[in-house]
Amino acid sequence: MIDTHAHLTALDDPDDAVARAADAGVTRILTVGTDVDDCRRSLELAERHDGVFAILGIHPHVAGTATTEDLAALRDLLACPKAVAAGETGLDWYRDYAPRDDQRRIFDAQLELAMELEKPVVIHTRAADDDTLAALAAHTGTIVLHCFSSPHMLPTALERDWYVSFAGNATFPKAVDLRLAATQVPAERILAETDSPYLAPQPVRGLRNEPANVVHTLAALAQARGEEPTELERRIERNAVECFSLP
Ligand SMILES: [Zn+2]
Repeated sequence: MIDTHAHLTALDDPDDAVARAADAGVTRILTVGTDVDDCRRSLELAERHDGVFAILGIHPHVAGTATTEDLAALRDLLACPKAVAAGETGLDWYRDYAPRDDQRRIFDAQLELAMELEKPVVIHTRAADDDTLAALAAHTGTIVLHCFSSPHMLPTALERDWYVSFAGNATFPKAVDLRLAATQVPAERILAETDSPYLAPQPVRGLRNEPANVVHTLAALAQARGEEPTELERRIERNAVECFSLP
């Protein structure tokens, strides 16, 4: 099993979390860096563990302080062999931690970087669906909607062949709309993630989340889709390998 989105650097014991994940059958983890320093740490972790790969970006929450130098540094880091995607990047009008113009500027810059380096882009969008869709209108590279929580975006995602990645919130009893969305995503576009240490799935809800828990999201998705968990697991692995060009 693979966890396609975790923030290992936000855990106190990332190396142990990698080992616990492997014990649970989660042998590959994509860890996400959210600013240049965090991207360096994420890449170091990826270089230490065969099964760990890095998604490198500047998160919309920190877009307000991101400089041109940061973007140049990010470009260099993204050229490393273990860097498999740009992001997470996008727009967050819910928290609004960074001025909206800065969020747009940093998002556009990362879309350009991804095109130049031919990497997929992992998208964070919150309370900004229409503006996110507008920003992506002209983007022709591979897109992953991470922590999918916007059923409203699903028709566009399906039409444009984007990957849709479900996180622990899809397991919550009230998340009927997310599980319905999961039944509408074609088999070759579905992904699963933890977004650890956030959003622990239902059986461990409220606890600190970690990559081993992706099995709970997988189980909920399989049940919603009426598929065998082992079959969906293989399918998601294959999708991730293709999406992120994993070895
Ligand atoms: Zn994330």
